[in-house]
Amino acid sequence: MLSHARHVALAGVTAVLPFLLSVVPVQATESPSITSSDTGAPPTGATTESSRPVELILSSSSPRQGDTIKVSVRGDLTEGGGGEDRTVSFNGENFKLFGDGTGLSCLLGISPEIEPGKYPVTFGGISKQITVIDGKFPTQHLRLPKKKDNFIASPGEKETIKKAKQIVSAERYWKGKFEKPVKVGRISSVFGIRRIVNGKLLKDYYHSGTDFAAGRGTPIYACAAGKVVVARTGWRLHGNTVCIDHGQGVISIYIHMNSVDVKEGDLVKSGQVIGAVGSTGRASGPHLHFGVYVNNACVNPASWFVKTY
Ligand SMILES: [Zn+2]
Repeated sequence: MLSHARHVALAGVTAVLPFLLSVVPVQATESPSITSSDTGAPPTGATTESSRPVELILSSSSPRQGDTIKVSVRGDLTEGGGGEDRTVSFNGENFKLFGDGTGLSCLLGISPEIEPGKYPVTFGGISKQITVIDGKFPTQHLRLPKKKDNFIASPGEKETIKKAKQIVSAERYWKGKFEKPVKVGRISSVFGIRRIVNGKLLKDYYHSGTDFAAGRGTPIYACAAGKVVVARTGWRLHGNTVCIDHGQGVISIYIHMNSVDVKEGDLVKSGQVIGAVGSTGRASGPHLHFGVYVNNACVNPASWFVKTY
């Protein structure tokens, strides 16, 4: 099956997001004082080699649209107050930092909605620049029967998914790379493609995940450990749907499922069966649409199968 066209939700999100971004106040003016040289003279003799300067380290300075980048803060963070609520700012939003054993870090998702160009990433008084590279996503044609060519959702469906993508819980459940949620079958649609449905280009649309085409009933596995935050059946647009919170702003989503074998609140292990492939909702044939969100930004799941974040 060549794919489907779901993502009504997506169309909704892309339409709404620029507005959301525009109302976020330009932040981070109250930068924690991170200089470490203002504490007066160290006691003589005691070589309190305390103050390593604070450093901001980015895993990539030229990410492509769809990439995930890691921002690490290293050095002496004991001064300057700020408690645990320290954040990194990027593209008009603040992102919470978490202790990682060596310092603080967080992940940034470079969604296809972020225009190519230069952007600062800022922590306190330190700023580094990244250059977002065009993802050069291809265009795909597809045909849908007239009755499926709409983006009508069930009541509460879009709202529930929108809320799930915004979860940022402190606990980190995942470890290492993600595993593929479908072990047999092929990838029928990659991340980011634009679509022409029944001859019409979908405006502001991009494919928000990776599609695995497989027979109805093929098991679907959790890509990593986490907590089930959405387990719903009967939705008109997404069909039967599961969302898993992997912690620290990382969420995975599984849609068009034939059956759902977990319930909300369940803790799942990496590789645990959570349901089976189907074609429920706005799907043209059996497949799993698998998506990954990082701090509410839609990213390319494929890089999570090969990289450790
Ligand atoms: Zn899809």
